[in-house]
Amino acid sequence: MHYLWYRLAVVTILVKSRRIIQALIASAIAIIIITVMPLEAHSQYTYQSSLIQKERGSINGTGIGGVGTTFNKLVLLSFDDNLRGDFIYAKPILDKYGFKATFFIICNKTGISGTTRFLNRTNWQDIAAMQKDGMDIQSHTMNHRHLNHLSANALNFEIGGSKQCLANHGYHATTFAYPYNEGSNNATVVNVVAKYYNMARSGTEPLMFLHCNGYKKQPQKDCRTYLPDGKLTYANRYAVRSLSFDVDEIKNSFNNAAIFADFIKMVNSQSKYNSGGVINAIPLITFHDVDLATNQPYITNVGLFDQLMKYLHDNGFKVLTMANLGYDTARSTLYMQ
Ligand SMILES: [Zn+2]
Repeated sequence: MHYLWYRLAVVTILVKSRRIIQALIASAIAIIIITVMPLEAHSQYTYQSSLIQKERGSINGTGIGGVGTTFNKLVLLSFDDNLRGDFIYAKPILDKYGFKATFFIICNKTGISGTTRFLNRTNWQDIAAMQKDGMDIQSHTMNHRHLNHLSANALNFEIGGSKQCLANHGYHATTFAYPYNEGSNNATVVNVVAKYYNMARSGTEPLMFLHCNGYKKQPQKDCRTYLPDGKLTYANRYAVRSLSFDVDEIKNSFNNAAIFADFIKMVNSQSKYNSGGVINAIPLITFHDVDLATNQPYITNVGLFDQLMKYLHDNGFKVLTMANLGYDTARSTLYMQ
């Protein structure tokens, strides 16, 4: 009798344990499904972005809804022209502060080496090392030509060919940057860009408004590319506005204190547009060469660059890449992902 009770007790415990394990498995599956579903909804975006999205909590379509966090201060960084200083000097500083950036590559100008900066570009090995550490690799044409003056074939080569060139080296370029800030107001150029890319970066403005509605001289209600009369809009997914920081350095005659003060103003200018974790405006800052030189156009001194990045780090800015920018076709707006 005693033995029977013992067996019954053992069987009961086993059954209960099985139920508990089954229940645990079921909840684990439920948790996985809940976690994966919102990521799948954005499956066209990069894995890296998904991780950032997951880390931040929910996405509300027009901005980042950071649960328990404030993501009111964002900066997007990009580097043009694959100059070697960006790999040697800028990348270690970005790494030090845990920042990522977009690097726009001129495909036919990789691996050139020489003494002047234009003869000293990153090679495919450098580019691979950057991507491995989370940097975003995108297209800046084949040869950096003035796009407004090219034949249809040449345009296709510069814009589509560079996407193919990057693909040949294992990079899936989805964003394009116009050389010399030329072409985003030219429908012929924009239509070729739109054939190959989801998005393109142009210049002129220190703030990118996610609804494209903050430019007083260029009033817009949303980010549609064309108005009903067929005219191109000023800001759209193929004219994501950015400011070349070199313009500011030249304006301030390479006075580091003045440049630093302007940088602080620039990155904080978003504060009146963003609150409660909803982002409406983001400074998108473009650098060219970060190098040892001082007082030279299109070179940002490495010491100054470190100072700028340290400011962002110490003041709680999130620094992201253009891969974090998405386009909502139904609403004709940009959003952070
Ligand atoms: Zn360029």
